[in-house]
Amino acid sequence: MDRRRRRSKILATLGPASNDEASIEKLWRAGADVFRINMSHANPEAMRETVAMIRAVEERVGRSIGILVDLQGPKLRVGAFAGGGADLLVGQTLTFDSDPAPGDATRVCLPHPEILSALSPGHKLLIDDGKLRLQVVEATGDRAVARVDVGGRISNRKGVSLPDTEIPVAAMTPKDRIDLEAALETGIDWVALSFVQRAADVEEVKAIAGGRALVLAKIEKPQAIARLDEILAAADALMVARGDLGVEMPLEKVPGLQKRITREARRLGRPVVVATQMLESMISAPAPTRAEVSDVATAVFEGADAIMLSAESASGKYPVEAVTMMNSIAEEVEQDGVYRTIIAAQRAAPERTGADAVAIAARDMAETLDLKAIVAWTASGATALRVARERPRAPILALTPIRETARRLAVVWGVEAVITKDAHDVDDMANRACKFAVRQGLASPGDRILIIAGMPFGTPGATNMVRLAFIGEDGARAE
Ligand code: PGA
Ligand code: MN
Repeated sequence: MDRRRRRSKILATLGPASNDEASIEKLWRAGADVFRINMSHANPEAMRETVAMIRAVEERVGRSIGILVDLQGPKLRVGAFAGGGADLLVGQTLTFDSDPAPGDATRVCLPHPEILSALSPGHKLLIDDGKLRLQVVEATGDRAVARVDVGGRISNRKGVSLPDTEIPVAAMTPKDRIDLEAALETGIDWVALSFVQRAADVEEVKAIAGGRALVLAKIEKPQAIARLDEILAAADALMVARGDLGVEMPLEKVPGLQKRITREARRLGRPVVVATQMLESMISAPAPTRAEVSDVATAVFEGADAIMLSAESASGKYPVEAVTMMNSIAEEVEQDGVYRTIIAAQRAAPERTGADAVAIAARDMAETLDLKAIVAWTASGATALRVARERPRAPILALTPIRETARRLAVVWGVEAVITKDAHDVDDMANRACKFAVRQGLASPGDRILIIAGMPFGTPGATNMVRLAFIGEDGARAE
């Protein structure tokens, strides 16, 4: 299945179940467009090895593959317990302090002094993905006493979520900084930043990246929801990170938030990824549940750019089957009659720019004339992104001289990219657009395609040209 017959893209997380070249190639052939390396479970050396394997597969299959490196972020954890854990009963209190001595059922270390001083009475503490719930009743700056509302066993180094507390630390930990630098040196395409709270978190990574990679903000905290606009303006893409979002917010709010985040991202033309537990049961079973299929379908109907697999492809028993399943669901949904109606209903008004005027004209012309492809000559990828924002019926073929652009576009709805040097004049531009549309299997002799570009070439933001071309019998352009 080398040609994708869907517009939505698939992200597959790599891990012990798939971290070898043969598996990566199988996942790509099954439909994975972008691979995610989760730095919560990797170090720079392992990351570099994985990147090398992905690039070897990319070379062999002859298509650009995107690589997303996901930084762990400030995941908070409690300290250790004498005996490994403690049983907490509803109504009792547990004190969090900065004493590293092993804890018990009355107290435990929370080894983040800045967090201890940010806690106030009423703040919730959710432990172990929300399995245990506590509420602060007394806070003195260096310790906090919390009442147990939902009890159970707490054990060494369990994760702590603080949905009510503005965390006064940057989104990047020392490990994240090391991982980020290593990733940028290795030449990856996207960096994902975890537990983003504000635009400044994203801006800091962008400043370090300096254009070497694009930055995706993971929306998984209530603070990020509250500042969605500023984060969206700062980030190159968003992820609806439903795992932690569903811990920090009531679960029943997650579907509505998913709709809101995907719509806002689409409105600005930023790629948006829907992630976590999409086909969760396929970690251990060869087929998903009806509810999971419906969940994947919903994200596709919403016009998300990409849908993501986590443990299903990283550590489950059926990584290839999970990608195959996602691919089938996306193909089926996109062929459904109501798909176009829903996608069109969510289309947002254009910005008053040449690029958007051209993008709308391209969609309109392609639909009126039932054109086989919209071919976008693009250096930065911006022209292709603005056309993708229109969610046209025709596939978008991005022609770019820049390899990094082709790889970055792997996450974008509807876009397939080919690397080719800049055209030297308008005829060359039209001829090569026809040639690549045929070569990519998008069009045949006798078909018409649309070409968009910015002239003169190499002027960023100068999308200003639309041209209709007829593909002659020899696959080259004829007027
Ligand atoms: P994670 O992010 O897998 O890194 O936790 C995704 C999520 O929280 O949904
Ligand atoms: Mn997360």
